[in-house]
Amino acid sequence: MKSRFKAILIRKDSDKQTVEDVELTPADLMQGDVTVAVSHSTVNYKDGLVLTGRSPVVRKFPMIPGIDLAGTVEESANPNFTPGDKVVLNGFGLSETHYGGYSELARVKGDWLVPLPKEFTPAQAMAIGTAGYTAMLCVLALEDAGVTPAKGAVVVTGAAGGVGSVAVSLLAKLGYKVIASTGRTEEESYLKGLGASEIIPRTELAGEPRMLGKERWAGAIDSVGSKTLANVIASTSYGGAIAACGLAGGLDLPTSVAPFILRGISLLGIDSVQMPKPRRIQAWNRLAKDLDVAKLAAMTHTIPLSDVRKAAEEILAGKIRGRLVVEI
Ligand code: NDP
Repeated sequence: MKSRFKAILIRKDSDKQTVEDVELTPADLMQGDVTVAVSHSTVNYKDGLVLTGRSPVVRKFPMIPGIDLAGTVEESANPNFTPGDKVVLNGFGLSETHYGGYSELARVKGDWLVPLPKEFTPAQAMAIGTAGYTAMLCVLALEDAGVTPAKGAVVVTGAAGGVGSVAVSLLAKLGYKVIASTGRTEEESYLKGLGASEIIPRTELAGEPRMLGKERWAGAIDSVGSKTLANVIASTSYGGAIAACGLAGGLDLPTSVAPFILRGISLLGIDSVQMPKPRRIQAWNRLAKDLDVAKLAAMTHTIPLSDVRKAAEEILAGKIRGRLVVEI
């Protein structure tokens, strides 16, 4: 194991947050029974909030940011992992209360780790990242709620973003008709390439929500929240379901009970961070089966660790298309 390694560290003094490049030793790491040589991490929307300090996500300072990581086990006192195993970790307090993925070494609880499916390299696992794993959790939730391709279309909001791009791609491969809602209509050919059959402008779902609208889709994956989610709910057809996972457009939800009690639709809340391990393993195995790796490559850009601060600003401004992998 390296005696010194590179990481990014966030400090907070009085009210000011700084993000620094640092060199640490393994003794500086937090407690855990598995040490991982991290090869890749990613920039998700939440990483943007952490790095810019725009939302109080970090609950312990100093903190190594990075909500997810992939790499190879270096040391393990956990019976389920041995050195050389390839692993992936999403959430479980990384970058909130436990040092995260923007670091050459991570010491974590083995219980948080998922064995990397053999179909993926660590770089591909992070091209999926927390955004893609969450998109899969949304698809699983829709399936459990009985939203099948035969029931009708599925709308994906924030479609050109990370969760959105993976969701479009997965749903299309599974045979759903996908309607992609985006503020970037110039990305029409990108979204059609991922499998969307119809593109609608974000503004169509951004107006004052009506209690009930025309029934347009059987299901939805929403990473935007606020009025967009309210409008999505109002246009979901009888018995349909919406998987809500994000807040890129706002935390509020200005809706009414009408769609629930008159159309029997279901709003399915998706949290990836504390998701129990069996569902994580199910989601990663389904990604291995149902995600087209050529489409994954088409939605992915790779950046060095030194670029994550710039990328953080860009993702919060809605300027990142698809997924950003960070080479550690
Ligand atoms: P991205 O920034 O990659 O995607 C978000 C997309 O939302 C943007 O690309 C844009 O898509 C759209 N968007 C951005 N701002 C607005 C706005 N003001 N109004 C309407 N649409 C907007 O982020 P991620 O995909 O990484 O994450 C998406 C959301 O999901 C975030 O809120 C994140 O916190 C949440 N999330 C939640 C998880 C959970 O466990 N519940 C896990 C992972 C993510 P377009 O340009 O196509 O309109």
